[in-house]
Amino acid sequence: MKAIVYDAPRTFHYKDVPEPDILPDEVLIRIHACGLCGTDLHIHEGEFSPNFPLIPGHEFTGEIVAAGAAVQGLQKGQRVVANSNQACGKCFYCLRGQYLYCKNLNAYGVTRNGGFAEYLRIKADRVFQIDHLSYRQAIMVEPTSCAVHGIEVLAMEPGSDVLLYGAGPTGQVLAQLLKLNGAGRLVVAAPPGPKLDLAGRLAADETVEMDRKNAEKHRARLNEFNGFDYVIEATGSPHVLQDALRTARRGGTVLVYGVYPENASVQFNPFDMFRNELSIKGSFAQIDSFPRALNYLETGKIKVDEIISDEFELKDWDQVLQHAWSRKGIKTALFPPGA
Ligand SMILES: [Zn+2]
Ligand SMILES: [Zn+2]
Repeated sequence: MKAIVYDAPRTFHYKDVPEPDILPDEVLIRIHACGLCGTDLHIHEGEFSPNFPLIPGHEFTGEIVAAGAAVQGLQKGQRVVANSNQACGKCFYCLRGQYLYCKNLNAYGVTRNGGFAEYLRIKADRVFQIDHLSYRQAIMVEPTSCAVHGIEVLAMEPGSDVLLYGAGPTGQVLAQLLKLNGAGRLVVAAPPGPKLDLAGRLAADETVEMDRKNAEKHRARLNEFNGFDYVIEATGSPHVLQDALRTARRGGTVLVYGVYPENASVQFNPFDMFRNELSIKGSFAQIDSFPRALNYLETGKIKVDEIISDEFELKDWDQVLQHAWSRKGIKTALFPPGA
């Protein structure tokens, strides 16, 4: 089968590799589409502890073409998505039932082969059937699952004033989820352009144009709102996070949701934190949110058609990277040959 294989950071080939054999508790999925994620760009650089050689891609969807002897409830021909994260079940955190904190977390597309290929073998207990979603739409199930976990961490009170920084693929889904889960008023801040416009059409009550480099000067504008109950930072920029910490109102909560450079740091004023009783929360990926994300997507409450802005064939991985670095589109879908 054809696949994108990384042998080392920045060293990849589109090439023929053997089709994977499945174990009794696994299924073989013929991949029909796989989303490109910011995580894949980190893996390209060798970050996030990838196991090389590696086929990346963790936002995959397709059709079951074979099921192992021990697999129940799944069969050939079923259209599916799959949760790429798997806890070990044995470590300190797993024994406490905190599977997302697993010390040996395995992730298809990061620590083992993922979906930038024609076929993928995966444990059957990671797999979920899709009904109404097209394969193109289904690449958004994994990012939506992560956003659902973010909303869970936020634990928002109904009717709140909410500010979301970022209008990338995750920002677009978060904006819709925030609207559905208690934001009485939702403001989205992002650089001017089609992404911010889309956030306005999909969910935001108000949009604020923001330049990444000049986040500071937009704070005055945002402070006219008297601060926000909840501020979600979904750009991954430490500068924006620094600013986000100053847009929460007294008693407010800041959710750290973006993926930041591992060695970045941010300053905050401890007196403000104390005086204003601010909370800072982090939200990382997900482990058990797939069924809830599917509820939102299969019923059309979360809309993804306009979020998927670009489509590429798997063989054009070079162009995919160039396109991603240009930061032009929103979400890119990749298709293996014949899909
Ligand atoms: Zn992702
Ligand atoms: Zn574990």
